[in-house]
Amino acid sequence: MKKQFANPQNLLFSIAMGVIALVINLYPIPFFANVQFIVGNTLTVIVAILCGPWYALITSLFASTGLLIIWDSYHVFVIFSLEALFLGFCRRRDIYALYGSIIYWLLIGMPLFYIMANIFFELPADHLPFVTLKQAINSLIYTSIASLLVLMLPKLWFFETKIKDKQRRTLSKQMVYFITLMITLSLLFSALYFNFVSLNKQQTLIKKNQQETVFHLSYAGEQYINMHTNVIKNAAHFFTLVNNTPAEQQPLLSNLHNNYPGFISMLITDDKANIIAASPITRFNDTNSSKHLSVKDRDYFIEAFYNQKTFISSVFVGRGFGNDAIVAISAPYFQKDAPLQPAGIIEGSLDLKYFSAIDYDFNQHGSQSLILTDEANNIIYASNKLNLKVMSPFKYSIHNGSYLTDLQLLNLKNTTSNIPEYIYAAKELNNGWKIYVIEPFSPLLKLAEKQMLTSFIILLTALLISFFISNRISQLLTVPLELVANHFGKLNQNDLNTQVLDESSPREVYSLYQRLLTSKQELISHQLALEETVALRTLELENANQKLQELVDKDPLTDLFNRRYAEQKFQEIRDFCLRSEQAITIAILDLDFFKSINDSYGHLAGDECLRQVSALLLQHFKRDTDILARYGGEEFILILPMTNALNIEHHLNEFRTILASTKIDSPDSKQQFNLTASIGAITANANYHAQLDKWIKIADDNLYQAKAQGRNRVIVSIINPDSES
Ligand code: GH3
Ligand code: MG
Ligand code: MG
Repeated sequence: MKKQFANPQNLLFSIAMGVIALVINLYPIPFFANVQFIVGNTLTVIVAILCGPWYALITSLFASTGLLIIWDSYHVFVIFSLEALFLGFCRRRDIYALYGSIIYWLLIGMPLFYIMANIFFELPADHLPFVTLKQAINSLIYTSIASLLVLMLPKLWFFETKIKDKQRRTLSKQMVYFITLMITLSLLFSALYFNFVSLNKQQTLIKKNQQETVFHLSYAGEQYINMHTNVIKNAAHFFTLVNNTPAEQQPLLSNLHNNYPGFISMLITDDKANIIAASPITRFNDTNSSKHLSVKDRDYFIEAFYNQKTFISSVFVGRGFGNDAIVAISAPYFQKDAPLQPAGIIEGSLDLKYFSAIDYDFNQHGSQSLILTDEANNIIYASNKLNLKVMSPFKYSIHNGSYLTDLQLLNLKNTTSNIPEYIYAAKELNNGWKIYVIEPFSPLLKLAEKQMLTSFIILLTALLISFFISNRISQLLTVPLELVANHFGKLNQNDLNTQVLDESSPREVYSLYQRLLTSKQELISHQLALEETVALRTLELENANQKLQELVDKDPLTDLFNRRYAEQKFQEIRDFCLRSEQAITIAILDLDFFKSINDSYGHLAGDECLRQVSALLLQHFKRDTDILARYGGEEFILILPMTNALNIEHHLNEFRTILASTKIDSPDSKQQFNLTASIGAITANANYHAQLDKWIKIADDNLYQAKAQGRNRVIVSIINPDSES
């Protein structure tokens, strides 16, 4: 066979399929997070099945180019080119593509991908097995689709140059493959669909839960701030109305503070920003060494006193009353007689630890964390496990959306990474503060991984089970069929009554067997009848042939051989005598005055004469080797091999005498008459002459002599081999 470098038809096909695959691969099907499914490689598998490894490689290079464009990673060329080659070589060995694919991904694809992804990809390490497994599942999908397309639509792949099976496949193998394909595809699709739905549900739940938490927290926070703001507002109002002395204010403030432990500390200043009352009083007394403590540089004093409004500060570090991060709420109080002239402010430092309490209360799911920022984006409160510093700016990056999910994602630790760290929900409070509820993203990813792994294990188990079951089912059909085929292959008449199928074989096969049996029985009886007829016909034919031969060789009147036979037989006899150097006698016998017999007794009497002479001849020349033939009307030729030259004339004369003394009856038996014959003969060695004519000529001459000499006599020429040639 001439080996071509490449078949142009296959080459064109693989390139065309490659281009389509490239385009399809540009649009992968998103599944979850950064997991996508590619379907363009279906075409690579089709080319591998139809045209073998090298054309599949061409298609795969195109298809991988599509993936390179969207994924920007060269690993696709290695993984998918190897896959295409592997499937192509499997095809050459009659290994089904799906089996090939499973072998490839278990032995080469997954280990290789895992190593390459470790080196080249930026992926969380525990996410890697999942991505690897996903590649294998993806391959199982497109390989199954490709195999089904090739099997179900054979007319679509019309060209002659495609690879054909080396060996005819068994029904059982074909059935098993079909069933395996169907189960793989249906299980994969349903598993993926349910995973997809379940992941979506999970995400919706997480989102809803976070939003609820954020809502409750912000509500509680606002309530907390509003309540304490109102306390300050009301206290300021009270002090304006009562207008008492600083000495009277101190117990009132202490009393107020007792009722509202949400404040770390409270204070009252005069119009010079000097603290005139404070709670807790002990701490005020401790710091009282430097009397006339002034807060005139504080925002809470300036905003409340000069701008005359109720004020909530940003977060800052307290002074004098310890170094806690605090938020100050302040309001001015006025002189009773000069209502527009502030007499000082009342301030409460809000205890931010309150948020850890509501954090604790609301966060039933241990995984959620809370961050509260002020209007300047400084952290007021952050859950402990986040390790964020209070009062530092809240730094984070919102995720860019390369992961497919409805959830909002942000990164706190590695703000440049494209691996999302947290799922978050946020809400701005009325006072410009912002509350964030976050929880790690990785558990969701882990859940997806776990689900997919479980699906994959179920799939493999189902495949194994279906493999055995379908094998068993197909055996139900193929084993009895095989039995029937074997049975009829070597069937003889005695076997007809043996049962080959047990009761477990299907009814269709059993009925087929019954019908085959009936026709086989009919066939055998027909055959026997036919053989009988043929034998009969052959016998008849042989008889007819023999008769025909006799008709051809014999003279119908006398039943002696005819002239043609004698002439033909002469050569045979001569050859035989030549080998044994024997003499042959050729005698011509002519009845005397036969014409007058005809004339006297009628033609029928003449015929009768001829018959009786013949019978006499047969009686007299008895040897098997003698040929007695009617030579012409009333002439006979005798070919007598192995004759004794000394004896032959005597023998001929004997006959002549017997004939002469024989009474011939006329047909009506009314008359009798005698008859004589004249005989001319030649006796010579077989090698005398090859032509019968030469022999007859001499016999004829002698006959003529005998007639001439008065008839009823014998004249024999004995030819000495030395005297003549
Ligand atoms: P000769 O002694 O010279 O031989 O005399 P002949 O009468 O026998 O001579 P010829 O050869 O002239 O005559 C032969 C006759 O034999 C002529 C023919 O009527 C007769 N004859 C030849 N064939 C048949 C035959 O089949 N049946 C009968 N009945 N007669 C025959
Ligand atoms: Mg004659
Ligand atoms: Mg005659």
